[in-house]
Amino acid sequence: MKQSHHIAVLAGDGIGPEVMRAAEAVLAATARRIGTGFALEWLPAGAQHYQDTGEALPDATLRACESADAILFGAMGLPHVRGADGTEIIPQIDLRMAFDLYAGVRPIRTFPGLPTPLAHPQAQQIDMVLVRENTEGLFYARGRGDVRGDEEVFDTMRITRTGTARICEFAFRLAERRAAQRGSAGRVTNVDKANVFASMAFFRKVFEEVAARHPAVGADSAYVDAMALNLVLKPWTYDVLVTENMFGDILSDLIAALVGGMGMAPSGDIGDKVGLFQPAHGTAPDIAGQGRANPIAMLLSAAMMLDWLAGRGGDARLSDGAALIERAVEQVFATGQVRPMEFGGSDGTAAITRAVVAAIDR
Ligand code: ATP
Repeated sequence: MKQSHHIAVLAGDGIGPEVMRAAEAVLAATARRIGTGFALEWLPAGAQHYQDTGEALPDATLRACESADAILFGAMGLPHVRGADGTEIIPQIDLRMAFDLYAGVRPIRTFPGLPTPLAHPQAQQIDMVLVRENTEGLFYARGRGDVRGDEEVFDTMRITRTGTARICEFAFRLAERRAAQRGSAGRVTNVDKANVFASMAFFRKVFEEVAARHPAVGADSAYVDAMALNLVLKPWTYDVLVTENMFGDILSDLIAALVGGMGMAPSGDIGDKVGLFQPAHGTAPDIAGQGRANPIAMLLSAAMMLDWLAGRGGDARLSDGAALIERAVEQVFATGQVRPMEFGGSDGTAAITRAVVAAIDR
């Protein structure tokens, strides 16, 4: 078993480095408890780096990411820094493509002690994971838009059997693991628009084939418009959702809002070989440099990374580490020790990090 895990750190821009320093402190505290260490290699990339050097994601950074055990990512992009075609600098999409990180995994849950935007009492029991297909769907059109004069533009949606089958497999295996942890039946809900688009009808067909191979897991499908309604009306009834790239992009922000803030939503972009973990939020230029950012999404992303590493290498100490971080986060909110500023509290990045580190140390 490894005594140290090599983590490629892409802190990025805006609040990215601020929340990454919180993750560094929490990983150090976790290492003290579980007896295995983390060697963090900070690497240059991002919009500021692009402005300084003309390169957003240097080759050397990409190679270091490839040889690391996992990638921890802060946030990248600055509104005033644009590429030659006017679009924002977003190397995270290039990383997804370079390493074929096909599964966008977005878990959200409520934490006792924090207010939730939904008044319904069951809103305290939200606990679901959205699995977004990351490599095709409508995002296939990125860089391929067919612009015909000043009159018409075509963006193409691409759905393949291989791409759909592997994302659905991923979702069912995740539902099986969650069910085993909870001792309850798992369920995967496919979100599509199969009533209108041939591409989506095909997505549903492949989903149903994969579902048939996992009879112990419940499976159903919903149209994305009905899902947008139900995710607000009764989000506590869902377990694992699986969906096409663009729908996943939109719904993952919606579900982050259900638990009260972007600073609470972690994520992983996972392939067969490489895993990248990052908060679902962006660089938040409006609060950058003020110490106000809530680091919890980043810390929970680090916990997801430990779980993923444990699954790959079989080192149970790493899943203990993930559980330690998650329990520490639960504790600091349940005991009312801290309240992030995005929830109307007065605690910034440093105070929240100190409280989580202290809870891990205890
Ligand atoms: P992107 O397009 O990269 O997602 P964005 O500006 O649309 O960027 P965010 O950077 O996530 O989105 O910011 C959206 C809002 O959420 C901003 O008001 C920001 O201050 C707030 N926000 C984002 N992350 C956090 C955080 N960790 N703590 C507190 N507030 C945050």
